[in-house]
Amino acid sequence: MLIVMEKGADNADIQAVVNTSEQRGFTARPIPGGDRVSVGILYNRGSVDAAHFLGLKGVKEVIPVTKPYKLVSRELKHENTVVCIGGACFGGHNLPVIAGPCAIESLDQALTIALAVKKAGASVFRGGAFKPRTSPYSFQGLGQEGLAILARIREETGMPVVTEVMDVENFDIVEAHADAVQIGTRNMQNYSLLKRAGRSKLPVILKRGMSATLQEWLMAAEYIMEEGNERVILCERGIRTFVKHSRNTLDLSVVPAARKESHLPVIVDPSHAAGVRDQVIPLALASAAVGACGIMIEVHHKPEDALSDGAQSLYPEQFEQLMEKVRAIHAIIR
Ligand code: PEP
Ligand code: MN
Repeated sequence: MLIVMEKGADNADIQAVVNTSEQRGFTARPIPGGDRVSVGILYNRGSVDAAHFLGLKGVKEVIPVTKPYKLVSRELKHENTVVCIGGACFGGHNLPVIAGPCAIESLDQALTIALAVKKAGASVFRGGAFKPRTSPYSFQGLGQEGLAILARIREETGMPVVTEVMDVENFDIVEAHADAVQIGTRNMQNYSLLKRAGRSKLPVILKRGMSATLQEWLMAAEYIMEEGNERVILCERGIRTFVKHSRNTLDLSVVPAARKESHLPVIVDPSHAAGVRDQVIPLALASAAVGACGIMIEVHHKPEDALSDGAQSLYPEQFEQLMEKVRAIHAIIR
């Protein structure tokens, strides 16, 4: 249930609503909006009697929330949430692009790519230090050394950096080096990791599980928000289907669907969906056209030598051309 306060309601009015719901055994979460505050009621089993709240001072209306997810839902918060990683804001009027290699391989590799993507207009640098690889024999990432390289990249280029956190064990160290953390597709329903991310001060990019429905994905985001972290960015990265012409199938239709259900920004990673670079370019353009709030692209200066995901990594020149087209498409649709 959502209790919408009058525009002029003060802190005492809001506190009275919180107290009333707590006396009845519920949890109340004030949600600041554009020009008024709403209070979300959580942990109620079954419906809550609106009459308990309608008579309180400053209460405008009481709206039942019909969805299983609450904090992520547009029913609870109508305005788009804007989540910024450094100066790059997702969910506003701009279309920030996150770019970089799949994995950090060396300082030289990371810096070469970072300078190239920055020049082309990317505003956040990405690169994995802890890599969730399908095979235990594949390159697993440089670990802490990779994190130190990411921090150097921030220093040298001024770009904020995002990297994947694979487990609760390494959360503190990843958090200490990154400007945002990414939870990968394989971990979308790792609930202890989601809860830890919910206690982080950093924005979280939550990739969609490779077989997750929209509802499961939003429930995963709810875990993060429920712990108190409101800075969640949803990332569609392709789902498992029967096709063999691409690594995964980019579900573009989930972008408007997720944006309708949730106020959180939705970005698209066409690289992991496509798996091959020729498809990444048209899918990135389509992502901009379908209303994504940001795009994430893998780029490598020598993809043939890349230690992971070389086949889907764009050459810097391709990325530069792509950025020009993405900007043009975004200018039309925004
Ligand atoms: C990645 O971004 O490098 C990655 C491993 O992504 P995903 O979790 O979507 O496979
Ligand atoms: Mn990758």
